[in-house]
Amino acid sequence: MSHRVLIIGSGPAAHTAAIYAARAELSPVLFEGFMAGGVAAGGQLTTTTDVENFPGFPEGIMGPDLTDRFRAQSERFGTTIHTETVNEIDLSSRPFRFKADAQEGSADSVIIATGATAKRLEIPGAGDRELWQKGISACAVCDGALPAFRNQPLVVIGGGDSAVEEASFLTKYGSTVYIVHRRDELRASKIMQQRALDNPKIEMLWSHVVTQAKGADFLEAVRVKDLKTDEERDIPAAGLFFAIGHTPNTAFLNGQIDTDEQDYIVTKPDSTQTNIPGVFAAGDVQDKQWRQAITAAGSGCMAALEVEHFLAANP
Ligand code: FAD
Ligand code: NDP
Repeated sequence: MSHRVLIIGSGPAAHTAAIYAARAELSPVLFEGFMAGGVAAGGQLTTTTDVENFPGFPEGIMGPDLTDRFRAQSERFGTTIHTETVNEIDLSSRPFRFKADAQEGSADSVIIATGATAKRLEIPGAGDRELWQKGISACAVCDGALPAFRNQPLVVIGGGDSAVEEASFLTKYGSTVYIVHRRDELRASKIMQQRALDNPKIEMLWSHVVTQAKGADFLEAVRVKDLKTDEERDIPAAGLFFAIGHTPNTAFLNGQIDTDEQDYIVTKPDSTQTNIPGVFAAGDVQDKQWRQAITAAGSGCMAALEVEHFLAANP
C-alpha cells in the first residue's frame, strides 16, 4: 500500500499528528506498535494511573483512558490504525518503503513518534506485580504530587540532570529527599548540582545503590548499600523515583537519521524536520528535556503541519 503520511507511534505525539493530518485530508496511516519498546500501544501513559496535568481534565484522568481518547479522536477523523510495529524503514529515497509485523508499504512522508522508554532498575520489590506504581515511579514530575508522598521521606536514584531536577521538585512535597548515586560525583550540570546540594531538604547518599524496595501494599522502605564499605541498611521511604535515563525508540531506524550521542533524533531548531526531507520526528523520541504528554502533543501538531507544507511543495 502507498500512503501520503505514515505515522509511527501511538502516544500523544502520534495521535495529535494523526488528528491534524486527517483533518487536512491527508488520510494518514498510523502504526501503533505491538508492545514496541516493551510498552503497550498507547505509549508511556498506558503505564501510569492519574494524569493531572493534561489540560481539559480538571478532575484528572487515568493514563490508559487518556490514550483511548487520543485514539478515538484520530479514528473519528479518518486515521487508519494498525496494531503492528514498524520494524524496518528505508529512508534512502521517496517514497519511503517500510515493513511492519504483517504488512509492508510505502509513504511520501513519515512522522516518527515512537517515544522513549524510561529505564527501570530491576531490583527485588520493584516489579510490575510488586511495588511498581505503588510508591515507585520513573517520573517525579508526573507522580510527585500524589497525597501519599506529602511530608514523607522520598528517594531518587541517579546522578544526572533528571535526578537533581526531580529531587529539587520533590522537596515541595517530601520531608527529606535522598539522592542515591552510585558514584561520589554527579553527572548533572554544575548549576543544577549546586541548587540541589544547597537545598536543605536534599540529602546525598554518595557511592550508594538501592538493592531492594520494601513494603506490603505501598512502598515503606528502601534497602541501600554503601559501595565503599558494603554496609547495607534500610531507610524509610514512601516514594522511590528512578531517574537513570531513558532509551529513545530509534533502533529500528538503523542509523539512517541523525541522532545525538544518546540516540535521540535531532530535529532542526523550531521544527520537527529531521536531516531527511519528508521525515519528521515528534514527542519524546526527539525530546530528552521536557518529556510531558502536552509537549509531545504540541510537537505532534507541528509535525503534521510541517508535513502538510512539505507535501504541498513536494507532491
Ligand atoms: P510515547 O508515549 O513514548 O509512546 C510511543 C509509543 O509508540 C511506544 O510506547 C510504543 O507503544 C509505540 N512504538 C514505539 N516504537 C514503535 C514502532 N517501531 N512501531 C510502532 N509503534 C512503536 N506526562 C505528563 O504530561 N503527565 C503525566 O502525568 C505523566 N505521567 C507519566 C508516568 C509515567 C510512569 C511515565 C513513564 C511517563 C509519564 N509522563 C507523563 C510522560 C509522558 O507519558 C510522555 O512524555 C509521553 O507519553 C510521550 O509521548 P510520545 O507521543 O512521545 O510517545
Ligand atoms: P543521564 O544519562 O545524564 O544520567 C543518568 C544517571 O543515572 C547517571 O548519573 C547514571 O550514573 C545513573 N544510572 C544509570 N544507570 C544506572 C543504574 N543501573 N544504577 C544506578 N544509577 C544509574 O540521564 P538524565 O535523564 O539525567 O539526562 C539525560 C539528558 O537530558 C542529559 O543530557 C541531561 O543534561 C538532559 N536533561 C536536562 C535537563 C535540564 O537541563 N533541565 C533536565 C533533565 C535532563 P553515572 O553518572 O554513574 O553514569
